[in-house]
Amino acid sequence: MDNDQEEQQKKQNPIDTTNDFINRTQNKYRNIKRERRVFKLIFRYLRTIITKESWATPVAGIVGLIIFIIILTVILTVGTGYPNTSALSCGGVCVTTCSSTETQDTSGTCNPDSSGTPQVCCIPQTTCEAISGNCRVSCYDYETPNTTAKCDLGGTVCCVPASSSSCDSDPAKYMKDTFNVVVETSVKSQLTTICNILSIPGKSALYTSLLKRGGPTNISFDSAPCGGRTLASGDIILHSFWSCGSAQNFVLIHETGHTIAIYNGGVSRSFTPNAYYPNDSSCYYYNGACDTTTKYFLKTYTGGCGGGGKPESFAESLSLYVIPRGALSNYKSQCPTGYNWEKNNIFGGYEF
Ligand SMILES: [Zn+2]
Repeated sequence: MDNDQEEQQKKQNPIDTTNDFINRTQNKYRNIKRERRVFKLIFRYLRTIITKESWATPVAGIVGLIIFIIILTVILTVGTGYPNTSALSCGGVCVTTCSSTETQDTSGTCNPDSSGTPQVCCIPQTTCEAISGNCRVSCYDYETPNTTAKCDLGGTVCCVPASSSSCDSDPAKYMKDTFNVVVETSVKSQLTTICNILSIPGKSALYTSLLKRGGPTNISFDSAPCGGRTLASGDIILHSFWSCGSAQNFVLIHETGHTIAIYNGGVSRSFTPNAYYPNDSSCYYYNGACDTTTKYFLKTYTGGCGGGGKPESFAESLSLYVIPRGALSNYKSQCPTGYNWEKNNIFGGYEF
C-alpha cells in the first residue's frame, strides 16, 4: 500500500524529487571540502615547525640561547670549581699563602679566589725549612734528626747529614780532613771505631793540630798480640786491634802520642820525665835492663823497654791524660807535673 502511495506522489510532483537529490549531493561535497581545509591547515602548521620557517626560527633561536646560558652557568659555577680549591697541575691545594709546613709548588697553577685574590699551589714540605735536609719518617743511619726544623704534618722529621764535626756520616773523610789520618780498612764499622777513638783527644784543637801537621798518618793492622807500634814515619800499626776490647782506646791514643812526638820534635824534646821524678815519684818505675838513656817508665806502661823510658813515657803520659787507668787512675792528682805538662803542651788547656 505505501509503495503505491509514493509512486503516486512521484507522478504527481517529479521536480521536488530532483531538488532533494541535488541538495543532498551539494551538502556531501561541502562536508568533504571542509575536512580537506582542516587537514591543509594542520599540514601547513606541521610543515612550518619542521622546516623552521616563518615565526618558528626566532623562537628556536631564543630557546637555544636560554639553554646555552644555562649550560654556561653550570660550567662556570660547578665544572671548574670557582673558586678553585685544588691546584690544576700539582698535588697540593690552592690557598692565598702556604703555611709554614707547606712549600709553594711553582709548577702548579690556581685560579683566583672568589674575591679575585691570586692563589698559589701548596704541597706538604719535603725539605726542612731553613735547613739543608729532607723530611723523612725516620732518619737514615748517618743522618741526625733536627728537631728545631719544621717539616710537613705527616709525622716526618727533618733529617740532616751528620755534622762534619762527627764520625757518623763519613768517618774516613772526617779522619782525613780532621787528623790527616788514613785508616787502611774499608769496613765502615772499623772506620767509625777508629774515628770515634781519635775524636776523644780530638776534642782538643792543639792535639788535633799536632797530629795533623805531619800527616798523612797511615793506620794499618796486623795479627801480633794486642798492642801497637809506631814507625819512624809516624805511621801506626795496630796489633789484633779488633780483639783488644776495652784496651782499644788506650792503645790507639798511646800510639798517636808517638806519632805526635815524631811530627813535633821540639814539643817532644821539652818533655823531660827525669825532671818529673821528684814530684811524681810514685808514677814511675825503673827498668835497669833497658839499654836507654832514660830507664824510668810510667807504671801503666807494660811494653818492656820499647823505645826507651822517655818516648814511652811521653806516649803513656799523653794517653793517661785522656784516659787515666790502672795504677794511675787518678793521673791528675797522682802525677801533677806530668799531667800539667800534657795539659799545657799537648792539649792546650783542655781537660777531660
Ligand atoms: Zn809506645
